[in-house]
Amino acid sequence: MMNIYHITYSPSPKVVCLHFWGCNLDCRACLLKKEIYDCHLKETKDAIFDPEKIAPSAPDRFLTLDEVMDAVRGLKKVRYVILMGAEASLDPGLPNLVKLLHEEFDSHNILLTNGMKMISLRDIDEVVFSIKALNDRLHRDYTGKSNRQALKNFVSMHKLGIKMNAESILIPEYIDFDEIERIARFIGGIDKNIPYRIDAYLPVQNNPWRRPGRDEIMMAVKRAGKYLKNVSFIAGDEKLTFGSIRIV
Ligand code: SF4
Repeated sequence: MMNIYHITYSPSPKVVCLHFWGCNLDCRACLLKKEIYDCHLKETKDAIFDPEKIAPSAPDRFLTLDEVMDAVRGLKKVRYVILMGAEASLDPGLPNLVKLLHEEFDSHNILLTNGMKMISLRDIDEVVFSIKALNDRLHRDYTGKSNRQALKNFVSMHKLGIKMNAESILIPEYIDFDEIERIARFIGGIDKNIPYRIDAYLPVQNNPWRRPGRDEIMMAVKRAGKYLKNVSFIAGDEKLTFGSIRIV
């Protein structure tokens, strides 16, 4: 059995998203605490904005490797496979799965990760690395663990020459402009060309923080832009440009 519990597909860009369960961090703003299914679906798209919503503590079923491959085979065309959900790198079956996906679909495999665990990236084409905080005390407060290994892994992955992206969440008065700027300086010290995306915090459970305004996001983008050539953002009020459908 794999850790995969949910599969979605976006026909227009031909993206299949494989959602893995289980994580080695416990982020206070983890959106899986609100919704464990893809938030780009019609039936779930409002859940992450609902302050009352609390997700089930775990999925009720998991898929075998064969079930995952059969589900992907049933799709019209697959260009990108995104390995996401909670933390895909924890699944011992991941290296074999991405190898099979390469062989059968010649897919571009993208791993979304918190970077705490270094795995073989042999059949991974691109990494989206979530840096929660640079300050270790803040990182421990937010996730329950030190970031030292994750930061080392960021450097190691870059040395491997894999295409990398980074992302962080802006949380006003917590993981604020100064911290985002420190993260950007860290990334820029490795490679100024690594694309960096700043996401607006969406309120989750009983956290004391508020959502940042668009002006605050723009300020964070400006501060990060001192160190990086390509900084983007998600303010949380954007319209979806393509629909996703649930496969499993
Ligand atoms: S790393 Fe991602 S999946 Fe894991 S707890 Fe943090 S936000 Fe949730």
